[in-house]
Amino acid sequence: MKKIALFPGSFDPFTNGHLETIERGAKIFDEVIVGVFVNTNKKSFFTAQERTEQIEKTIAHLENVRVVSQETDLTVTAAKKLGANFLLRGIRSVKDYEYEKDIQAMNHHLAPEIETVFLLASPEYNHISSSLLKEVLHFGGDVRNYFPPAVYQEIVKKRDSYEK
Ligand code: ADP
Repeated sequence: MKKIALFPGSFDPFTNGHLETIERGAKIFDEVIVGVFVNTNKKSFFTAQERTEQIEKTIAHLENVRVVSQETDLTVTAAKKLGANFLLRGIRSVKDYEYEKDIQAMNHHLAPEIETVFLLASPEYNHISSSLLKEVLHFGGDVRNYFPPAVYQEIVKKRDSYEK
């Protein structure tokens, strides 16, 4: 059976930490599907369509990775519809672990046939989150090294359009 993993997230914006997890996942699974989910608790920086386009450009070099945008479904329902038998998530810290273990348990309850696989974020990226980077960007700090070029380019455009 093909090993297909869904990597769900809000990716708002998509960072090099997300990219690293995908690149490592692409070596483990036959296919990785990046699911751009709308997170109802977070105010969005880029629209789901903008995020999807930016991620598509960023993962173009990875043959077994594709991106889908997912508006309403439960993660496990989306995984089943996409034919994914694994969920991929990244863990940066104990804080992530506490949050992720509850989600894993709930997803296991809802769909025991779907296995969640966690990758530990590398030390280079385990201190960054989309929220922290947004805050630093807001106050003009230089965080370009944490974003893939296709994402940073759009951040700059957005910032320029505010300043006009
Ligand atoms: P969500 O809103 O679902 O938490 P995120 O876009 O914040 O979505 O994160 C998606 C996934 O990527 C999560 O599993 C998260 O732990 C992981 N992740 C976020 N930032 C990093 C990072 N810097 N390095 C590795 N994984 C990360």
